[in-house]
Amino acid sequence: MKALGIDIGGTTIKAGIIDETGNLLLRKIVPTNRSLMEQLKEIIRTLMKNGNISCIGIGSAGRIDPQTGHVRFATTNLSNWSDVPLKTVIEDSFHLPTVVINDANAAAFGEWFLHYRDTSSLVLLTIGTGLGGGIVINGRLVEGERGEAGEIGHVILHSDGKQCNCGKKGCAEQYISMRIIHEKVASSKGKSLDRFELIKAFNEKDPEVIKAVEEVCSDLAQVVDWIFNFIDPENVIVGGGIAELGEDFLKILRSKLAPYAKHSLYEPSNIKLAKTGNDAGIIGAALYSMYKNAKI
Ligand SMILES: [Zn+2]
Repeated sequence: MKALGIDIGGTTIKAGIIDETGNLLLRKIVPTNRSLMEQLKEIIRTLMKNGNISCIGIGSAGRIDPQTGHVRFATTNLSNWSDVPLKTVIEDSFHLPTVVINDANAAAFGEWFLHYRDTSSLVLLTIGTGLGGGIVINGRLVEGERGEAGEIGHVILHSDGKQCNCGKKGCAEQYISMRIIHEKVASSKGKSLDRFELIKAFNEKDPEVIKAVEEVCSDLAQVVDWIFNFIDPENVIVGGGIAELGEDFLKILRSKLAPYAKHSLYEPSNIKLAKTGNDAGIIGAALYSMYKNAKI
């Protein structure tokens, strides 16, 4: 059994062929371009040449209607991607059952299926360029009535704060992301670091980088405490680019969470780093398509 998994982000489209146990058999990564739908069809056509594909799973940034697989709203990270009947277009073009979900939801399902199937619930926070969230409860992905479940990045954290590209002010995503860590480091150092330089500096305990990570973790701890109080999942998992900062980042986050946890029933150890890595979105979307089509 094989499925195509596709993860559409503002910078890259990642795609691959996945078997029913979540093994990634083939991977293809291309920069996202303006004619996204044509690009997407081309990628699917190329991957389908490998034969025997049973279904397609697409994880896309934006709010996805859980019933129709229609992209209802995407921020400016993906231009011309709001109000797109994605599931219908792909099914009409390729005649294969297709599932479309939000990219963070795909990553959450993938993480749960591959690593946490012995637990009933988790919330995965995907922290990269932005902040996304996905919720699994009783082994089922919670997509919500309108596809907004898990949109934690657009919960207001600081009222009347920084302008967000969703139209509101003070959204959590404007305070918690790798982009924000990079911005803080650039303003204190007077020069920007690339991803590898930043990780290296963090591991070498550069004080300005540590300070930037601590500030972001202070805001992140509030969001995590909110999640435990609101949903009470067994674990909250942190994935995306920020997870590359590793165990020292997790220690900082747990230390920021400790004062909140003290007044609640969860433990700081209930927050963990994701294990699936950068392919979580592709693998999760493909596994969810097989799950929805009762192939696994
Ligand atoms: Zn927002």
